[in-house]
Amino acid sequence: MVWNRTHNCGELTAENIGEEIILNGWVGTRRDLGGVIFIDLRDREGITQIVFNETDKQLHEKAEQLRTEYVIGVQGKVDERDDENINPKLATGEVEIVVEDLIIYSEAETTPFEIKEDIETGEDIRLKYRYLELRRPELQQSIKLRSDFYQSVRSFYHEHNFMEIETPVLMKSTPEGARDYLVPSRVNPGRFFALPQSPQTYKQLLMVSGFDRYFQIVKCFRDEDLRADRQPEFTQIDVEMSFVDEKNIMSSTEALMSKIMAETIGEEVASPFEQLTYDEAIKTYGTDKPDTRFGLEIADFSELVRDSAFNIFSSTVEKGGAVLGITVPDQGDMGRGAIDRLTERVQQKTGAGGLIYIKLNEDDGVKCSVGKFLTDETVDAMVDSADAEMGDLVLILAGPDPEVYQQMGKLRLMMGKEHNLIDSDAFNFLWVTDFPLVEWDRDGKRYQALHHPFTAPQDKDIDQLEDKPDSVKSRAYDLVLNGYEIGGGSIRIHDRDLQMKMFELLGIDEQEAEERFGFLLEAFKYGTPPHGGIALGVDRIMMILSGGNSLRDVIAFPKNQNAQSVMDGSPDFVDPKQLDELHIRLKRGVEMGQG
Ligand code: ASP
Repeated sequence: MVWNRTHNCGELTAENIGEEIILNGWVGTRRDLGGVIFIDLRDREGITQIVFNETDKQLHEKAEQLRTEYVIGVQGKVDERDDENINPKLATGEVEIVVEDLIIYSEAETTPFEIKEDIETGEDIRLKYRYLELRRPELQQSIKLRSDFYQSVRSFYHEHNFMEIETPVLMKSTPEGARDYLVPSRVNPGRFFALPQSPQTYKQLLMVSGFDRYFQIVKCFRDEDLRADRQPEFTQIDVEMSFVDEKNIMSSTEALMSKIMAETIGEEVASPFEQLTYDEAIKTYGTDKPDTRFGLEIADFSELVRDSAFNIFSSTVEKGGAVLGITVPDQGDMGRGAIDRLTERVQQKTGAGGLIYIKLNEDDGVKCSVGKFLTDETVDAMVDSADAEMGDLVLILAGPDPEVYQQMGKLRLMMGKEHNLIDSDAFNFLWVTDFPLVEWDRDGKRYQALHHPFTAPQDKDIDQLEDKPDSVKSRAYDLVLNGYEIGGGSIRIHDRDLQMKMFELLGIDEQEAEERFGFLLEAFKYGTPPHGGIALGVDRIMMILSGGNSLRDVIAFPKNQNAQSVMDGSPDFVDPKQLDELHIRLKRGVEMGQG
C-alpha cells in the first residue's frame, strides 16, 4: 500500500499549521528525548521534523523500530514549534508534524556512510554506493540544477527556430583527435563501429540536407587519460548553423549562456563577451584558456635583458626564447625560506628550471635575486615594465618559447589561488579567436589540426597553406569561463577542393581521405551551404555553475580515474561465447585480466 502524499518534505510552513497532512520520505537523524521521538524526514525537496508522542502506545512502539534510511509514510497534524525550537536554517523550520499514523515501506541496513554533506569517505566507496551518495542534499541540488539547465537550453533553441535532431551512437570514427571507443559488429565480422567523439560529420551533413539550424544535447565518448575535468563519456550541447559567420555563432551562444545563467543561478552576465586572439591570450596569460577573474598579466622582459651580462637571460633571448615576469601584489617581503619553497613548487608544477625574483620592500628597497649580474637600470626597467610598486614581488622565468609561456601561465594561476586574488563569485566569459590552423606534431612528424580537419582557414591566409602552414590562422573560436574551456567551434570548410587541400596538409592522402571521410566529400558535391557551429561542454559548465571543482559532482553516475564504474563493475570481462559471436579472440594473457 502507498499513501498519496499531500505535501513534500520541503514545503510545510506556519501557514499550514492545523492541517492534516501525509508525507513520505527517508528517516534522517533521529532523537529520543525522554520518550518523545523526533525524526528528520527527508525527500528530495527538503526535511521536515516529525514527532511521535508517548500518548499512542502502539504507534510509539512502531516508531521505536525506525532506523536511519528506513522509507516511511506518516499521517499527522502540522503543529507550530515553540519559539526556542524554531530552526531558521530549514524552510520547514517553523513547524513539526505530530504523527497520528505510520507506515513502514521498507527497512534499511546501516549504510556504508552517513547521508550528509561533506562526508569524508574515500571516493571509490562513494562511487560504489553512488545511489546512496546521490541522496546527499548537495548532489541532489546539482542534479536538479542540471535538469533546470536542460530546460533552459531546449527552450532557448526552440524559441530561436533550431531543430533538435538525434544522430547515431553507432557510427564511423570521427576526427576529434582522441582514441575511439569501438563496438564490434556481430553481423559484419571484423568490422567495428566507433562511439561518437562528437557528431561533427553528421551535423555538417544535416546542413547539406538543408536543416539550417540544428542542436542536440548529446553524449560523446573519448578514450583519453582522465583528469579532474575530464570523463570518458561526457555531454555536449552540439550546434550547427548555415549561412553564418563567427559573429552569428558567438552572439547566439552568448544569448544562450545569458539565459542559462539567469534562469539557473539568477546571475546576470554582460554581453558581448570579451574577446582575445590566441596570440594575445598566450602572451598575456600564458594559456589559451585564461582565467580573467584576476590580473597578474605577463610582462615580457626579453628586449630589456637581451644584452645583459646575465647569461641565462641573454642566451635565452638569443636562442629565440623569452624572459617573462608577473607581479604578485603585497608579497615583496617574502622571506628566504618561503621563496625557496615556492621555487621548489614552481619547478615541480610548471617544469621551469628555476625562479628569479625582484622584491620591493621598504627595508631592502628593490632587490633582484640575480642583481649582481644586472645593472640597476635594467632591474628598474623590469620593475617598470611589470608595473610593480613598493611592497610587490616580481617573479621571473626564462626559457624557450612556447614552454616558458605555459610555465608562466601555471605560475600565474598558482599565485592567483595561493594569494586569494580570484573573485570566486565572478563569472568571466571570454572568447578566444584566431587560433593557428595546424600545429606540428613532433612525435608523429606531421601537422595536426588544432581544432579538427573541417575547420576553415582564414581567407587572408589561404594562399599560405602550402608554404607557411604554421602562420595560417583558422576560423575557430573557444568559449572560456573562469579558466575552463567550456566550448569550441568553427566556421567549416564547405568547398570540396579546399577540404582536400587541408587533408593533404595533414598528411591524409586521397585514398585515406576517401576511406575515412568519403561520405562527407561526396555530400559536398551536391550543393553545400556555408556553415559553422559550436559544441558546449555541459559537465564543465555545470561544475562551474554549481561551484564545485569535480565533474563527478554533476554527473549522476560518473566513472572513476581509471575509467571504471565501480558500482556495477564495468568494464567487465565477458563470456568467451560472446566474444566468439563477435569473431574476437583475446591476446594470450589478457583473458580475465592477466594481461
Ligand atoms: N565537434 C567539435 C567538438 O566536439 C565542436 C565543433 O566544432 O562544433 O569539439
